Amino acid sequence: MKKVKIDGNVCISCGHCVEVDDQVFELLPGETAKVKETANFEVDQTKIDQAIAECPVQAISWAEEEVVVDDRVVEPNEDQEEENVVAPSSPETEETVEGEE
Ligand code: SF4
Repeated sequence: MKKVKIDGNVCISCGHCVEVDDQVFELLPGETAKVKETANFEVDQTKIDQAIAECPVQAISWAEEEVVVDDRVVEPNEDQEEENVVAPSSPETEETVEGEE
């Protein structure tokens, strides 16, 4: 299931997302916008898409549900990026340490 996330380091607390959909977004005085814990993302995704499109600093985005690996929460693409890392290996660069196999 998709979720909505707000980057609190980017949000400028303009309140527009709350104007667009106050069932999903909230803005408390002196804070950045938050996604309500009671938000139901399945109800009206059109409004959420509108808030994402109209946020002046692109602080809102869809995110896949959290993935837990080895008791650690990872971003959905984090493991994928790690899989794409290939360690260089060639006989010329490999070193042999005595006593180690
Ligand atoms: S529209 Fe964007 S910048 Fe404005 S309060 Fe919402 S998340 Fe923050």
